[in-house]
Amino acid sequence: MAGILYLVATPIGNLEDITFRAVRILQECDLIACEDTRQTRKLLDRYGIGKPVVSYHEHNEAARAQEIAGKLLAGESVALVSDAGTPLVADPGYRLVRAALDQGLVVVAVPGPSAAVTALAASGLPTDTFRFGGFLPAKAGQRARLLESLRDDAATLVFYEAPHRILETLADVARLMPGRPVVVARELTKIHEEYLRGTAEEIRGILAARPAVKGEITLLIGKSEAPPAEGTSIEEAVAAAVATGLTRMEAIKAVARRRGLSKRDVYRRIPSTTRP
Ligand code: SAM
Repeated sequence: MAGILYLVATPIGNLEDITFRAVRILQECDLIACEDTRQTRKLLDRYGIGKPVVSYHEHNEAARAQEIAGKLLAGESVALVSDAGTPLVADPGYRLVRAALDQGLVVVAVPGPSAAVTALAASGLPTDTFRFGGFLPAKAGQRARLLESLRDDAATLVFYEAPHRILETLADVARLMPGRPVVVARELTKIHEEYLRGTAEEIRGILAARPAVKGEITLLIGKSEAPPAEGTSIEEAVAAAVATGLTRMEAIKAVARRRGLSKRDVYRRIPSTTRP
C-alpha cells in the first residue's frame, strides 16, 4: 500500500504551538522532509522524536519531489514540515504535493499555526475578506506597482516583509494608500511579540526611531473603504496615478481595473496629447 504525504504545521516561534496530532504524525511517519534539518531538529528534540530527516528546500525541490514521491509509492509515509508555520504558505512544498497528487497518492494537511492568520486574527482589521500576498517584491518599482494594483481591493491585505525593508515599504504604503489603517505584527508568539497599529506614517515613525528593526514581520493593510471619487474624471484619475510613480501605461491599466473599464476605453478618454 502507498504511503501518505502529511503536511504538518509547526510553531512560528513558541515551541508549545504544535498540536497533539502533529506530534503523533511526526512520531509515526517513516521520514520527515524539512527545509533546514538543523532548525527542525530543535523541534524534534523538544518532543523526543528521532525520525530520519531529509532536506527539502527551494533549491532541491524539483529533484526531491520526485524522490519523495517514489518513497511514498513504495509505501513510506512522509511528513513535510517547513522551518516555521504551515508548509507551502510562502514556503516550499507545492511541487511535492503536485507530484504526489499526480501519482494518485493521498495528501493530508495537519493544520496548525501560520503567521498570516495569527496576525490577522489579532490585528483588529476586518477578517471577513482578506488577501494574502506572500512576500512583497524586494524591488521598489515592482513593490509600488503591486501595492498600486491592490489599492482599491476590498480586502484586508496581508504580506510577509523582511525587517530591513519594512521602513521603505511603509513609506510606499503611506504614499500609495494614504491614511489606511496598518498593522505591523512582529515576532508573533515569541518573547518580543508586538502589534503596532496606526497609519503607515505613524508606524514608520515609531520604527524609524529605533536603533534597528529586527525580527519577523507580517504587515497588514486595512481594506479600501472609499469607492473612486464620483467627481474625479478619468483624466484626473490617470494623472493622480502617474503622480504616485507609475508610468502612463501602468496608470491607464490601474484606472481601467479600478473603474471596470477596458484599457482601450481609458486610453480613448484621455487627451491624445497625454497618451503614451
Ligand atoms: N510558512 C510560514 C507560515 O505559515 O507563516 C511562513 C514562512 S515565510 C518563509 C517566513 C515569513 O513569515 C517571515 O519572513 C515573516 O514575514 C513571517 N513570519 C514568520 N514567523 C513570524 C512571526 N513569528 N511573527 C511575524 N511574522 C512571521
